[in-house]
Amino acid sequence: MLIRLLFLGGFGFSYFFSIAQKMDDYPITPVPFSKVKIEDSFWLPRLETNRTVTIPYDFEKCEETKRIQNFEIAAGLKEGEFVGIRFNDSDVFKIMEGAAYSLANHPDPELEKYLDDLITKVAGAQKKDGYLYTARTIDPANPAPNSGPERWSFLDQSHELYNVGHMYEAAVAHYQATGKRTFLDVAVKNADLIANTFGPDKQYGVPGHQEIEIGLVKLFRVTGDEKYLNLAKYFLDIRGQKVDNVKYTQERNIYLQSHIPVIKQDEAVGHSVRAAYMYSGMADVAAIVGDEDYINAIDKIWENVVHKKIYITGGIGARHRGEAFGDNYELPNETAYNETCAAIANCMWNHRMFLLKGHAKYFDVLERTLYNGFLSGISLEGDEFFYPNPLACDAKYAFNQGALTRKPWFDCSCCPANIVRFLPSLPGYIYAIHEKDVFINLYISNKAQIEVNQVKVEIAQTSNYPWDGEIKVIVNPEKKSSFNIKLRIPGWSYNQPVPGDLYTYYNDNNKRISAKLNGKEVAIEPDKGYLTINKNWEKGDEIVLDLPMEIRLVECHEMVESNRNRLAIERGPIVYCIEGIDNKGEVFNKLLPEYAPVTTQWQQDLLGGINIIKADVPAFVVRETGEEVKTKSHNLVAIPYYAWSHRGIGEMLVWLPRRAKKLEIITD
Ligand SMILES: [Zn+2]
Repeated sequence: MLIRLLFLGGFGFSYFFSIAQKMDDYPITPVPFSKVKIEDSFWLPRLETNRTVTIPYDFEKCEETKRIQNFEIAAGLKEGEFVGIRFNDSDVFKIMEGAAYSLANHPDPELEKYLDDLITKVAGAQKKDGYLYTARTIDPANPAPNSGPERWSFLDQSHELYNVGHMYEAAVAHYQATGKRTFLDVAVKNADLIANTFGPDKQYGVPGHQEIEIGLVKLFRVTGDEKYLNLAKYFLDIRGQKVDNVKYTQERNIYLQSHIPVIKQDEAVGHSVRAAYMYSGMADVAAIVGDEDYINAIDKIWENVVHKKIYITGGIGARHRGEAFGDNYELPNETAYNETCAAIANCMWNHRMFLLKGHAKYFDVLERTLYNGFLSGISLEGDEFFYPNPLACDAKYAFNQGALTRKPWFDCSCCPANIVRFLPSLPGYIYAIHEKDVFINLYISNKAQIEVNQVKVEIAQTSNYPWDGEIKVIVNPEKKSSFNIKLRIPGWSYNQPVPGDLYTYYNDNNKRISAKLNGKEVAIEPDKGYLTINKNWEKGDEIVLDLPMEIRLVECHEMVESNRNRLAIERGPIVYCIEGIDNKGEVFNKLLPEYAPVTTQWQQDLLGGINIIKADVPAFVVRETGEEVKTKSHNLVAIPYYAWSHRGIGEMLVWLPRRAKKLEIITD
């Protein structure tokens, strides 16, 4: 096939050059979530909450807010008008995707029946030619605001293509979980209409909110029909064309990453969820067709994000205006946007970068995002959500769509719906296989069934991660077999929070990373971030990896004005914050000098069980003259950032000032 031959010419990463000829998708294959049984004290309760609380809760909310009724009306099952926002169909699709993933690991006849009924409604809402968009079809003469007067006439705003992209992902998930084609047939019919409508010599139109590209690639993988892959590539390649530069303002085009062709883009700009979905779609297409230009572009954009635009929590998107990336080093704390969907999209993108390149640095970003900027987005109880995830709160600026704490739902509820599909897919991020290599990327207790070197192998991982750094891996091959276990050595366990100089650790670890194979010390010489252990493996072989879980103070690049002369606290993959409730109601008057003695303490009954960090630090007062004056010491208590805002409205801060401007002790 021509497109695959192109892959051979000057392919950019030498590591996989030797296998390029065979490649028809990512060179590294993730072990699917259905092969990984989570047994983890940190993640299992969260996955169970997602399954038993959040999925049914989100469906209930979709009933209550008429999102599902829209399908019923469009299907002619009910009378009425379209209710809500033009992209509300997509929320239902995302929850259906999450429900399908849940069914794959937890058969549940009641949920399966609910999905079957819902699929009947969705199928009923589809027009004969495949078109599906309840915002228009309920009353074509009066479509929902910003849908455009007729089909595809307002693509930069309508989300017609975005909605169905989510439907393709959901339909593929449902097909893979149940083997039923009911939903997949709806998706295929719709995608056929779109493939007949758009393309070279057909209608021109840039999808305003990227997502359909990812969905089309999934549809290609499951059906083998190349027209879906070609359409995904077409939708990427037409971005940044002259016709749009004339039609829209430059600001508008930047907002939706259509200001220049995608292969010329080298900086992350505009709406951060659209952006990261686009980079994910580019990675998907590049993995299959071997488009080196795509890979060069997303490499540069990745460097830009990680060196200049990512928050320490892994959050992306500095600005509320346009839900967008800011300029380089523009990382405000109180007004940080960091949409929960953008954190999910960042994980999706970094996973794909790893699958292309086999480097652990992508998982350093993914893990940071997962445990911090993503996890903060959902309450421990599973029924309240953050849309933005700021790094400071003064208890006055209502950052969360008008609220100061998590909300039960939003008018635009993309984030709650995205969480329910992301969490059940998490086990699929832990392992990956490339020829004789078994990558272990995340440390989450589980039992996995994998196949490497044509031998079935069970891998059992146990740890008390993220609180404890000792990780035990038992390898049980069906028969003696030689392969490589590649253990990710997280950047935080030596000296790199993320690649680049945006964040650096102030203090070194006292303890070293260590690893033992069947009780014998193994030299730690990571390559591309992995410790590789090669052996003729036999049942019961045991690796113990010990990562130093020490309290680290983090400094930020001085170009980031909001973090100048400030420190943040980390331990393992967890970023900490201080909350008013633990600190006499106030956080903005606390200092964190670099010499402050810090200790950690396990609190079983606090916020689902957490390690808190304590420090004796000075506090300060601001006098009427504006002078900041140090006062006597304060017993600072810091908690994991993800757990904040569960105990009422109050102040919160991640980056603490090192010292007050005037160092004068007053005894009050
Ligand atoms: Zn969202």
